[in-house]
Amino acid sequence: MNRIKLCSGGFAASLMVLATASAVAQGAGEWTMAGRTYDLQRYSPLTQISRANVKNLKAAWSFSTGVLSGHEGNPLVIGTVMYVHSAFPNVVFALDLTKPGAPMIWRHQPAQPPEAKAIACCDLVNRGLAYHAGTNRLFIELLQGDLLALDAKSGKQVWRVPNADYKTGSTMTNAPIVIKDIVIAGISGGEFGVRGRVTAYDVNTGKEVWRAYSTGPDADVKIVGDANPNYPSHRGKDLGVSTWQGDEWQRGGGTTWGWYSYDPQLNLFYYGSGNPGSWNPDQRPGDNKWSMTIFARNPDNGEAKWAYQMTPHDEWDYDGVNEMVLFDATIGGKPVKALAHFDRNGFGYVLDRTNGKVLVAQPYAHAAPNWASKIDLTTGVPVRNPQYGTTSKKNTEGICPAAIGFKDQQPSAYSPTTKLFYVPTNNICMDYEGVDVKYSAGQWYVGAIVRMYPGPDQIRGAFVAWDPTTGAKKWEIKENLAAYGGALATAGGIVFYGTMEGWLKAVDATTGTELWKFKTPSGIIGNPMTYLGPDGKQYVAVLSGVGGWAGAGVALGISPEDPTAALGAIGAFGDYTNISNAGGTLMVFALP
Ligand code: CA
Repeated sequence: MNRIKLCSGGFAASLMVLATASAVAQGAGEWTMAGRTYDLQRYSPLTQISRANVKNLKAAWSFSTGVLSGHEGNPLVIGTVMYVHSAFPNVVFALDLTKPGAPMIWRHQPAQPPEAKAIACCDLVNRGLAYHAGTNRLFIELLQGDLLALDAKSGKQVWRVPNADYKTGSTMTNAPIVIKDIVIAGISGGEFGVRGRVTAYDVNTGKEVWRAYSTGPDADVKIVGDANPNYPSHRGKDLGVSTWQGDEWQRGGGTTWGWYSYDPQLNLFYYGSGNPGSWNPDQRPGDNKWSMTIFARNPDNGEAKWAYQMTPHDEWDYDGVNEMVLFDATIGGKPVKALAHFDRNGFGYVLDRTNGKVLVAQPYAHAAPNWASKIDLTTGVPVRNPQYGTTSKKNTEGICPAAIGFKDQQPSAYSPTTKLFYVPTNNICMDYEGVDVKYSAGQWYVGAIVRMYPGPDQIRGAFVAWDPTTGAKKWEIKENLAAYGGALATAGGIVFYGTMEGWLKAVDATTGTELWKFKTPSGIIGNPMTYLGPDGKQYVAVLSGVGGWAGAGVALGISPEDPTAALGAIGAFGDYTNISNAGGTLMVFALP
C-alpha cells in the first residue's frame, strides 16, 4: 500500500487535517470504514469533481459481483486497493486500482449453509466490511451468523467465530465497526423472536471481550443507574424486564442491524435497536425497553452511558436502527456535540450526544407521520394519535409511515460546508392488523398482516435536505420509487444518491438542482462513495443491484398478486418487476 502516493501535494495534505475526526489515520482520498469517518457523515473533502464539471462524469470501469440478491453498503478503498463485498454468500473481492480496469487480486467466498437463506426477513443483504489497520485485517458478518476475519493482503481467513445462530432465528447483515483493537458485531432477526445484542471481539484472536443485550436486567443490558435521567420514563432499575409482560423480553427483539458511529474524544459508540417481538402489540403490554432505543456505549467494556427510547411500545415495526450521525452545531445559541438520527417512525431527532437529551424532533420526509403529532421534548415521549394505534382486534388503515419507515437503513449524509443533512426517504403508508403468534425457535415470529402503498401525492420517495438546528426542510426532490440507496456529500458542493430505478444522481448541495445522472444496470440500494485513485484522479463508486425489503419482489422472485407478501412491501412495489432487474454490479465514474 502506498498512502504517500495517494496524498500527493500540499492540497491533499491539508485535507488530511480535516479528516482527523477519525482516530484511524486515513488519507483524504481513502475510504476505510462504512461512512468514511467514525462520525458517519459520509462526507468527502475531495473537490476535483465539482458543481461546475460533474456534468462531464463518465463510467470508468465496472465489476460484476456475480450475485443476484440486493447489494447494500459500499466498498472500502485502502491504499491502492478496493475491497468489495457482496450479498449472500458474502463474497469479498480485492481489486487493484493501480491497473486499468482494476483487476482482481483475490476473492474469498466463505462456506455457508444454504438453509440460512430462509432465516432472513428481507432479502439476503450485507452492508459491508470493517478494517483494522494494525493487523491489516478485514471483517465481515456472514448471514449464517459467523464473524469472519480476513488478511487484507492475501484474502485468507485468519479466524471465524460464531456470533449469531440462524437455526434459532438470528442472522447477520450489518457492517461491523472496528474501535481500537476490538471489532463490534450486531445481529438481525427481529422477525424471529431473537434477543438483540452487540458483542465485541478481540481483532487479534476473535475472543469475545464483552456482550451487551437490548432487553433484560440492567446487568445484561450493561446499564448502571438511570438509563437517561432527563426523562421520568427512563429512570428506574431493570426496565428491560419490568416494561414487558412475563418473560416476553427473552424473545423481545431489539436487534442491532444498523450503522455504528464512534466519538473518539467521548469514547462512546452509538447505534439503535430494532422492533420489539412480535409485531402484534397486544401480546406485549408496556414500553418494551430497550427496543427502539439509541444507545451510547463505552467500547472498552460495553457499558451504556445513556439510552433513549424513541418509540415506546411499538405498534408499527419502526426499527430504530438507522444511522446516528455525529456533528457539531450551534443550537439555541449554544455549541452542542450533536447526534442526528432519521427514524423509521418519521421523526428526525437531534440529541446532545454527551447526555442523550433530545434537542430537536421534527418530521423530515415528504409527508408528516400521523401515528404521533409530535415528540414532547419535556418528557421525551411521542404524543400518540390513538386512531393509528394497532391491535389484533381490527385492521388499522391509513398509518403513515409504513413499517418500512419514511426512511430505512439507507444512510443520510451531512455536509459541514452547507451544514445540511441529505436524507434519502420513502413515502409509503400502510394498513396493519395484529395476529396472535406462538414462539418457536427459528420460526417466523411476526404476528401481523401488513399492506403497504404509496403515501400522499402518489410518489414513493423523495430526497430531502434538512436543517438539523431547526428541523426544517430546505428542499426536496420527488421520486417515483423510493430513494432507497444512501447519500454522499462532497466538498465539491455536490450530493450523490441512488434510486430504485437505477439512477445515480448528482445534485447541487445548496439548491438541490440536478446536475448529472447515470442509469446503472439494476436498482440502487447501495451507498455512493468517492476516492482518489493512484493516478491522482477522483472517482465515484456505487453498488447497483436491487433487493432489500423494498426490492424483495425482484430479488426473491415474488409475484405481485398478494399486496401483503414480503411483509407488505409488494403492496407498494408490486409493479417493480417491470422496472428493474436483479444483479450486483459495482459502477465507477470519473471525469474524462
Ligand atoms: Ca423489524
